Amino acid sequence: MSLQPGLVPTEREPIPKNFAFGTANFPWTKRARTWEQMTNLSKPLRAWLAETFELMPASLVLNQQSADVTDKLLLELGDRSLIETVIIRVPQDGVGLDHSRKTICISTQVGCAMGCVFCASGLAGLKRDLSAGEIVAQLLHVCYREDVRTPRARAELASFDNIVVMGMGEPLANYDALIRALTIVNAEWGLGFGARRITISTSGLVPKILKLAEEPLGFRLAISLHGATDEVREKIMPINKAFPLAKLIPAVQTFSEKHGRMITLEFILIEEVNDSLEQAEKLRDIALDLHAHVNLIPYNTVEGLPWKRPSLTRQDRFAKILSDRGVSVTLRREKGHDIDAACGQLRLKTEKDREFTASEVANIE
Ligand code: SAH
Ligand code: SF4
Repeated sequence: MSLQPGLVPTEREPIPKNFAFGTANFPWTKRARTWEQMTNLSKPLRAWLAETFELMPASLVLNQQSADVTDKLLLELGDRSLIETVIIRVPQDGVGLDHSRKTICISTQVGCAMGCVFCASGLAGLKRDLSAGEIVAQLLHVCYREDVRTPRARAELASFDNIVVMGMGEPLANYDALIRALTIVNAEWGLGFGARRITISTSGLVPKILKLAEEPLGFRLAISLHGATDEVREKIMPINKAFPLAKLIPAVQTFSEKHGRMITLEFILIEEVNDSLEQAEKLRDIALDLHAHVNLIPYNTVEGLPWKRPSLTRQDRFAKILSDRGVSVTLRREKGHDIDAACGQLRLKTEKDREFTASEVANIE
């Protein structure tokens, strides 16, 4: 039996013969949130569906908005696990915030097993993988939120411009569910969202990068490098022991040759860890070698961790070493700093203090 897109079966039962496959687009185009709303189906069929499939495996528990342009949705899953989805608005000249470009950042796991020392997501290890339905559900919740918020959203099926798989978890460690979810998001009967507007970020699982290179859908790839030598990278990212730069860089090369696209190297700047000018020079050489874009991200402080972001002058000096040699580089002035936008931070805080006050709970439904 092939499962219906985006749905999580509660029981393994055969789909009845009179099931209307045309209803597959109801959760998308019509934003149906219950089986009951699919009024083109008979009542008994809707009742059977409701008993058999869970239509929406996540519920919104907190919607936190920052003073800038970032919105964070905290979602609760069936087992009470919490995941985060972030909406990043990029204001543009001449159009209001409602019409600005939007990037959605989604999670793929509850927690993370990779153990990067600077990251809030990995602090408590991996709890579990998300199902394809749970990954897709995050985007539907964004659609619900935007449908009521902006006129643009009401006019479009997917009212956002880009998806980045950079939330909680290591996406390539949950490979099958990730690809299934993104295939649904891309499908014509789903959100019809172009694969080239979807970026998958990985800490560097080499075999899975090579597998991803073979996928028919051409997703974009971002690598969390964070260290331009094995010595520095190994100190902060344990995965570097299994897949050092000598393995990672050729895999990235293979991916970019296959897809003919520029890949992105992400580099968090952490004071006195990886912000030396020597690291900048090494990073510049890697970027030139790979024809990669470099995204410099000033570190976002995590409660309980000792790491800090370097001064603005130091950040600029680091960036200049790259740009002077023609590397395409952006120095991100972090958005959403005031709402703990870095991966896993909101969940971490919420789990520490699971009881929300009523005023904190924004019910936007
Ligand atoms: N696991 C994947 C995707 C999720 S992490 C990966 O590591 O690529 C998304 C990005 O956020 C990664 O580049 C990660 O290194 C970065 N990140 C994690 N903690 C951060 C922090 N405190 N400040 C800034 N960026 C952080
Ligand atoms: Fe996991 Fe990415 Fe955080 Fe590393 S940076 S612990 S891989 S979520």
